[in-house]
Amino acid sequence: MELCTFLEVNAYDIIIIGGGLAGLTAALDLSHYGYGIVVFEPNPFPHHKVCGEYVSNEVTPYLRKLGIDLSSAGAVEITEFQISTVNGHIAKTKLPLGGKGISRYTFDNLLYEKARERQVKFVFSKVSGVSFSQDQFHVTTEGESFVAKVVIGAYGKRSALDKSLQRNFTYKKQPWLAVKGHFYHKGIPENQVALHNFEGGYGGLSKIETGAVNFCYLTSYNSFKKYGGIESFNQNVVSENKHLSVFLNEARPVFENPLTIAQISFEKKEPIVDHILMCGDTAGLIHPLCGNGMAMAIHSAKIASEVIRNYLEEKTYGRMQMEREYAKIWNRTFKRRMWYGRKLQNMLLNKQYMAMGVKVVGASQGLLRSIIKKTHGKRIV
Ligand SMILES: Cc1cc2nc3c(=O)[nH]c(=O)nc-3n(C[C@H](O)[C@H](O)[C@H](O)COP(=O)(O)OP(=O)(O)OC[C@H]3O[C@@H](n4cnc5c(N)ncnc54)[C@H](O)[C@@H]3O)c2cc1C
Repeated sequence: MELCTFLEVNAYDIIIIGGGLAGLTAALDLSHYGYGIVVFEPNPFPHHKVCGEYVSNEVTPYLRKLGIDLSSAGAVEITEFQISTVNGHIAKTKLPLGGKGISRYTFDNLLYEKARERQVKFVFSKVSGVSFSQDQFHVTTEGESFVAKVVIGAYGKRSALDKSLQRNFTYKKQPWLAVKGHFYHKGIPENQVALHNFEGGYGGLSKIETGAVNFCYLTSYNSFKKYGGIESFNQNVVSENKHLSVFLNEARPVFENPLTIAQISFEKKEPIVDHILMCGDTAGLIHPLCGNGMAMAIHSAKIASEVIRNYLEEKTYGRMQMEREYAKIWNRTFKRRMWYGRKLQNMLLNKQYMAMGVKVVGASQGLLRSIIKKTHGKRIV
């Protein structure tokens, strides 16, 4: 297929909605093949995001191939995992693949700068509508409209676009919210990511490239709303876990105010909607306790890039085949991990199961490692 054959202004081969890890990775990967690519993202770079900021090494070889070296950007090497119950009982193990601690402020910006270097165009606007007719997409922002042969939906966990696309999960209220901040604290080992349980939620602690500690937690809205604010919730609920209590008492915040997000959806989603290839959280968000959402976002972008290249370059590979293949590979690669993530989250939020579980895995590091493996994939290049 010929590239950029449209005569209209604002016509592209590929439009990417969302400049998070999935959208930026897809842009960077596809930029190597001479396509006209535009990424829409409302927030200028760099910017902070609510995230645990531990990325699995599953994707580091692929990122290196794209010219992104997280270690050179100061990412810390994380090799150990620790989990504690509300009562403070601990189980630990070595991580099968390990990962890196790096802020989203730095990580997303690295990808953005590299994509820009490679002539990817960025428009700092929110996409308000997307439709498909006569084998092309029409994408609109507040003031402009664009056309493209292919659209990647990489706009994250939830957006008004989901409503206009009538996606099923938008009709359900989502009871989850998350809070994140960076802190100065000397007591957290550099090579460790820890997950600490509290009533109705859990929080992760790990270091990032600045030397600060990321503290990010997920909790149910019902549990949170009784306390009327983050400080009171931290004191009354989060600090019930003695490890978090020590941390919160000793740590000094870097941000004036923590970042928060609400309405987080873990519902099942579809990888293709109205011919749009959904990537990253837009196709499905794995429970954060798995520490695999970022790697999945990046991996799904790689899969999307491969099928899009086939579609744009091979005359015999049609749109239907591209969509079928993307959905098939997406399901084969991620569906099982999502299922395990769901089961683990249910266990983690049940006090009795959690106490029993930590006792069992505490006695067998091999068992804890094999559970972690179920929510991760192999390294990708
Ligand atoms: C509390 C919590 C902790 C987590 N911790 C970890 C962790 O430690 N490790 C890990 O691997 N994963 C973690 N995750 C998951 C991880 O953050 C996500 O899986 C990852 O950010 C997905 O990347 P993405 O590109 O799909 O979405 P995002 O990074 O959310 O990017 C989506 C982008 O789309 C943009 N956008 C939205 N709407 C529009 C629109 N209409 N038009 C244009 N742009 C739009 C947004 O501004 C955003 O920049 C965590 C998640 C949560 C909720």
